[in-house]
Amino acid sequence: MDPRLTTLLELQKVLSEQQEIENEYKVIPNKRNQLLSFINNLKEETKLAEHKFKQHEVEQKNCELELQQGQETRVKKEAQLLTIKTNKEYQATLSEIDALDRKNTRNDEKLLELIELVEKEREIYHEKKKEFEEKESKFHNELNELEEREKGLAARLEKAKSKTQTVAQNVNPDLYRRFIRVFQGKQGVAVATANGGHCSACSIKLTPRTLQMARRSQDIVVCEGCSRFLYWDAALEEDQSVSL
Ligand SMILES: [Zn+2]
Repeated sequence: MDPRLTTLLELQKVLSEQQEIENEYKVIPNKRNQLLSFINNLKEETKLAEHKFKQHEVEQKNCELELQQGQETRVKKEAQLLTIKTNKEYQATLSEIDALDRKNTRNDEKLLELIELVEKEREIYHEKKKEFEEKESKFHNELNELEEREKGLAARLEKAKSKTQTVAQNVNPDLYRRFIRVFQGKQGVAVATANGGHCSACSIKLTPRTLQMARRSQDIVVCEGCSRFLYWDAALEEDQSVSL
């Protein structure tokens, strides 16, 4: 085999390894952001639930107070009735008591609603808080794991890159550039076998001349369909009948 071709096959191998690590490495920031935004959303939801519950709790207390005052005022007004001398004043106090009764009834109903609401919101808040605390400790573990993985991948990536560099040194710069163009343009596969008379990557039927050249493996030959570098895989030869 043309030694250039051997080196290109080697280049394909180290580049593939490098790319695989790169792909794993580059999604890590995204994963970290997902984790962060999940936990921050949960924190925000917990805060909101707490705020809502506490706000209604204050409203409930105010309502309780108002109702209590209203009831006390009613008792006083009723006591006043006994001391009133004129009919006019008596009637006026009676209608004041009536108004108080209506107000107290409204507050009583409002208070019942608020008690129910606060109870429900307190439960929601405690559930959220519990969920947040559980997820938070899990989140820290996941974040640490991710960091460890990132470090490991960075180290592996450095090694892979230097391996690629070592192989690339043995490739003519022009050929290297051509190869990288195909590698990047063809989803990370720059080589294909010509066994069977077809390009193994794009399946095009190769011309007899291309096929012959590829079979001899004595020159750099590319597929007419996809521009990938063709080679002849001797291991496959036994299984394939090829007519030249
Ligand atoms: Zn092809």
